[in-house]
Amino acid sequence: MFGYHGKILVVDLTSETSHWIDIEKEHLRQYIGGVGLGAYLLFKFSVPGTDPFDPSSPLIFATSPLVGTRLTTSSKFAVVSKSPLTGFINDSLSSSFCATELKKCGCDALILIGRAKRPTLLFVQNGRVDFLDAKYLTGLTTAETEKTVKETLKDYVVRVLSIGPAGENLVHYATISNDGGRHAGRGGAGAVMGSKNLKAIALNGSHAISVAQPELLEGKNRLLREKSRSNATAKYRLIGTVDNLATFNRLRILPTQNFQFAHVEDSEDLSGEALQKTAKIKTAHCANCTIGCEQIFETTDSGKSIQNRLEYETLYALGPLCAIKDRNTVIKASKMCDLAGLDTVSTGVTIAWAMECFEQGLLTLKDTEGIELRFGNTAALIDCVDAISNQTGIGKLLYGGCKKAAMTLGQGSDYWAMHVKGLEMPGYEPRGLKTMALGLAVNPRGACHNRSSAYEADFAPGVDRFEASVEKGKLAAEKEDYSAVLDSMIWCKFLRNCFEDFYTESSTIYEMVTGMSMTAEELERAGTRINTLRKCFNIREGWHRKDDTLPRRILEETYNGIDKQATGLTEQELSLMIDGYYHARGWDTQGRVPTNVLRNLDLLEIVKSAKGSVK
Ligand code: SF4
Repeated sequence: MFGYHGKILVVDLTSETSHWIDIEKEHLRQYIGGVGLGAYLLFKFSVPGTDPFDPSSPLIFATSPLVGTRLTTSSKFAVVSKSPLTGFINDSLSSSFCATELKKCGCDALILIGRAKRPTLLFVQNGRVDFLDAKYLTGLTTAETEKTVKETLKDYVVRVLSIGPAGENLVHYATISNDGGRHAGRGGAGAVMGSKNLKAIALNGSHAISVAQPELLEGKNRLLREKSRSNATAKYRLIGTVDNLATFNRLRILPTQNFQFAHVEDSEDLSGEALQKTAKIKTAHCANCTIGCEQIFETTDSGKSIQNRLEYETLYALGPLCAIKDRNTVIKASKMCDLAGLDTVSTGVTIAWAMECFEQGLLTLKDTEGIELRFGNTAALIDCVDAISNQTGIGKLLYGGCKKAAMTLGQGSDYWAMHVKGLEMPGYEPRGLKTMALGLAVNPRGACHNRSSAYEADFAPGVDRFEASVEKGKLAAEKEDYSAVLDSMIWCKFLRNCFEDFYTESSTIYEMVTGMSMTAEELERAGTRINTLRKCFNIREGWHRKDDTLPRRILEETYNGIDKQATGLTEQELSLMIDGYYHARGWDTQGRVPTNVLRNLDLLEIVKSAKGSVK
């Protein structure tokens, strides 16, 4: 088989056993890989209604046909499970040599079920699986864990995935870190791994990965590599995504002080340009990438050097959203999150909620154990990150994310909880980006900018980003499907401007790698299929139309946009756009998927017959 192995490795941590299952070629073709393959396996092998922390709940690591080829930006894998934040489907991507090593172990995906009796290090070497005692790793940070695993195994080429203290403590937005500081970040995959008593996974494989048309593929790769170093990616290579902060601030779409404002004065210290001049120490890149968008920054203000990568989302959530303007604090807090294994977006949004509750008098110094949890208090941010990681003090309230914290605290505090379906909001002001608002509301993962990408439609020529119209439904659906294909192939999003015709070029590359036929139309339809299956998973888990919404603050308050003063987004306007989205997808008015749509997308069989067992 080219591009795939046609095999899934299943590991049961309870019984300390493993076995292989075959996956049919046609199913690989239909779901591609990455988030698509992961969604298929999750739907097929999870028991409906199971708690994400139940031992039977699967945690899936899925590679793609491109993994292991020389194609630029293709060393990525998806982690798919039910999210402890939302109770719905979650998928996170990470970019590292772990993707290649997992595939070299001979599988297209690894499915973990069960719960280990003791803290465990799973060592996968090709088909051999060892369950090693990992008590000595308990409490270590993600970086310490990776280093210690390599030392203990006396294997320095092994690739390691691990959780930090946050995952061990079941913080619902814990990450799975890998390969020296990369993270499967959003939705709580690290907490699911922690619930399985699994501290780390070490991978070492030697299976060859063959492609159907290597020479043609290399020619295509050469072109992509050239384009990846052109103006199409200049922003990412030169400044990185932190460049967005100044642009979003200028456009009044930078969420600030828990979405009370969309603009911040005196933000120069946090702008991409200022960070470049004053704090950048180097540029880095993911495995097998010719773009290299990662900007590493340093702070020395505490007397020692703290270095970390910053992306826009981290900068937004730990910066303006908490009214923090000091870059040293943001670098420090992001480093703490990475070492503890915490998603920086959910951490920042949850702390911003707590800051607002504190200022409104709903939380007191007694609740916070002395932390003066006010907007802009740099020390409070740092103390709060520490409390969350270790589930101490105020961390005992904040560990489940802002939705859960607001349900516990009550007193109307859900008004300030900025999430969709339980996943905390990314850094895009929905009232000034109406297609994005719709994308955030309807996406099966919750408030996610990556799975929706609808902001791209808002900035397209001829689109009024302030207008809430029924036509936005089609735009949002198309962007979701496009993202699903990107994340299933798996391409880096920052490569997208290097394609002239994304579906045609990607389908040709798919054929060159796998030897299986694929047209542009079929690839586009695969995106629709994947998103529809995600939706079917959520429906099976109790989703209703009311779950497709936005935080009350967004729907009840206006905000000052740059060229539209006091603009807002009413519930009726959002509802109109949601109607347009369901219509574009052929769903009924309640967002349910009719049988004919399932049949047209070849989903009828899996939706009707999935048994939920992988044994
Ligand atoms: S462009 Fe950036 S995020 Fe994408 S693969 Fe390269 S370094 Fe990683």
